[in-house]
Amino acid sequence: MMQPLVLGAGPAGSVAATLLARAGAKPVLLDRSEHVGDAICGGFLSWRTVENLRKLGCDPESLSARQINRLRLFARDATAQASLPACAFGLSRKSLDRSLRELAIANGAKLEIDQAREVLPGRIVGERREWTSPTIFLASGKHDVRGERRPRQANDPALGLRIRVPPSPTLETRVGDAIELHLFEGGYAGIVLQEDGSANICLALRKSLLAEAGSDPWSLLNNLAAHHPHFAQRLDNASRDLPIDTIGSVPYGWIAHDTQAGLYRLGDQAAVIPSLAGEGMAIAVTSARVAVEAFLSGETAPRYQTGFGVRARRPVAAAKLFWTMSETASGALTMTRLTNYLPGIARLAMRLSRI
Ligand SMILES: Cc1cc2nc3c(=O)[nH]c(=O)nc-3n(C[C@H](O)[C@H](O)[C@H](O)COP(=O)(O)OP(=O)(O)OC[C@H]3O[C@@H](n4cnc5c(N)ncnc54)[C@H](O)[C@@H]3O)c2cc1C
Repeated sequence: MMQPLVLGAGPAGSVAATLLARAGAKPVLLDRSEHVGDAICGGFLSWRTVENLRKLGCDPESLSARQINRLRLFARDATAQASLPACAFGLSRKSLDRSLRELAIANGAKLEIDQAREVLPGRIVGERREWTSPTIFLASGKHDVRGERRPRQANDPALGLRIRVPPSPTLETRVGDAIELHLFEGGYAGIVLQEDGSANICLALRKSLLAEAGSDPWSLLNNLAAHHPHFAQRLDNASRDLPIDTIGSVPYGWIAHDTQAGLYRLGDQAAVIPSLAGEGMAIAVTSARVAVEAFLSGETAPRYQTGFGVRARRPVAAAKLFWTMSETASGALTMTRLTNYLPGIARLAMRLSRI
């Protein structure tokens, strides 16, 4: 068997490389960076993500991840709370990605550092050299590689912003063991405490909101804080020197229903679930497992892709519906009030948006 190539050592790629290595397929895992970065992400590991990681031998608790037991919603002055269907965790992506990359290497995957410029049938054109194999697992995540671009919404695309607020007793009291969703017109902010007690504040919003704030992320946060008192409280300890990371144009809702022979698309390259659901990493890990099983059993890449596309349809559609509702003032209020009076509905919504 010729060594399969896995492009991208994020959660999807590292999990695929681990499973391929365990099956004796000697994968080459390619990433553009030797150092594991801290990807822009809410850092919320859903119970489904955790279940999958544990099966693989990676327990978030051993990485000191924080337990998350409740969902808290905010829409202007309205608030609501519901318990999660099962325990979830808050963990920085740096810690998770490092541990998964180490797991892949420990199982025998060969890590190579190169920036892919183009993906062509049976080969990856890197900056350092060309890599060839009849089997490629495409796991470049948020980033598209030439030859395999995903379509973007021309009109007011969604973008991601992330700021880390240092640990403090006030944050502990206010956020505690909750995943908080602060809903505002045109987007939301998700807040989770991570292993060191810092608050990961991650926003997904329409580009026009940033443009209205003069393309200055701090002005945008100040504008939001001025209208959303609970959000403002979470920023109390945030020095204006803290860096804000951004990522542009996320193709929320996109699903790959087809692919070319020999190219298995994983993670965000298979389906991009709106981040409000906190299920992107579960999709990454699940798609990696299903694709590797398909490859090992001789199932073609197009067949795997069509099957996985069908499987991703319900959670992605559910998350898209909640994201669309939450983006309007009336939708956000309705969601928050419903959660307040009927927390069971919120739990059903959470279940519907799991892979
Ligand atoms: C704002 C926001 C908040 C989110 N919050 C959550 C959350 O709380 N919970 C959750 O479960 N999901 C969340 N998600 C989704 C989650 O981040 C993704 O679904 C997940 O990271 C996908 O994993 P992946 O392995 O497919 O890709 P990635 O994590 O993007 O990893 C891709 C890897 O490929 C490498 N790479 C990329 N391009 C190249 C190249 N050309 N050459 C070589 N290497 C390359 C990168 O260095 C990286 O290591 C969020 C997403 C956004 C945008």
